[in-house]
Amino acid sequence: MTESYDLPPLAKGNWPTLEKGWVWLCGAGPGDAGLLTLHALNALRQADVVVFDALVQQSIMDWVHPDAEVIYAGKRGGKPSAKQRDISLRLVDLAREGKRVLRLKGGDPFVFGRGGEEAQTLVQHGVPFRIIPGISAGIGGLAYAGIPVTHRDVNQSVTFVTGHDQSGETPSSLDWGAIAKGSQVIVIYMGMKHIARIASDLMGAGRGADEPVAVVAEATTENQRVLETTLGTVVDDVAKHGMQPPCIICVGRSVLMRQALDWQALAEGKEPRHLDPLGRGRPAESA
Ligand code: SAH
Repeated sequence: MTESYDLPPLAKGNWPTLEKGWVWLCGAGPGDAGLLTLHALNALRQADVVVFDALVQQSIMDWVHPDAEVIYAGKRGGKPSAKQRDISLRLVDLAREGKRVLRLKGGDPFVFGRGGEEAQTLVQHGVPFRIIPGISAGIGGLAYAGIPVTHRDVNQSVTFVTGHDQSGETPSSLDWGAIAKGSQVIVIYMGMKHIARIASDLMGAGRGADEPVAVVAEATTENQRVLETTLGTVVDDVAKHGMQPPCIICVGRSVLMRQALDWQALAEGKEPRHLDPLGRGRPAESA
């Protein structure tokens, strides 16, 4: 499906060619089509077949070459995914048919996305592949809400955690007590189903009920919604405001920065709610 497209040349050499029999395992970013990488865009224009997940937005699928085959491989989070192996083997079959295969996944393929499993199956079957990272929802989604995932006055580390495992339960291997004690800021993927349990475990391990929490639904899409709350009130507020997955949950004081950095509100002409939400009283430029 090679045809001309008007990307300027890369600094060194040409854009990579998606060869027949190859699979490119590619992140589509959190939603906004503008957050695709150039490699992703290049892949979308070349692929004969695109195998895509539930979280990939239609506006991104609109970039797929009109003659390409599209295969939906969506699984909703938390359901047992007996199908994961089928998806991986489907990629193998498509590559062996000589297709140029694009496997498109929400966010980054290696962040809670099973990209590693799919790539491993490709390796085991001798199928050549390339990995194209994407912007993960736990970073880019928060940025669209005006929340810096690290902020010098708040955190020198961040913990990314998944709220449920393959069986749909909270992962039994996770020690929420240790996470509560050792993590300055906690970013939770797939956390909505077990939010009550997670919030109570974090508070039980010493995190304050008044600790700021943000819940960002459908981040970076036109349906993005942001709930600012606290650990003690998040469960009630999620219900009250009808927050529905997919959501990124951020626990930590960096959430307060949204009072200054909600750039989408500022772009609509609103005033910042606070110029110095963390109360440092320090001009941004000073040491
Ligand atoms: N690989 C993806 C994560 C897949 S797990 C990434 O790197 O972003 C799916 C979870 O990601 C969802 O349950 C939700 O917690 C989060 N997520 C993905 N896209 C999102 C979005 N646009 N808004 C909010 N959360 C999102």
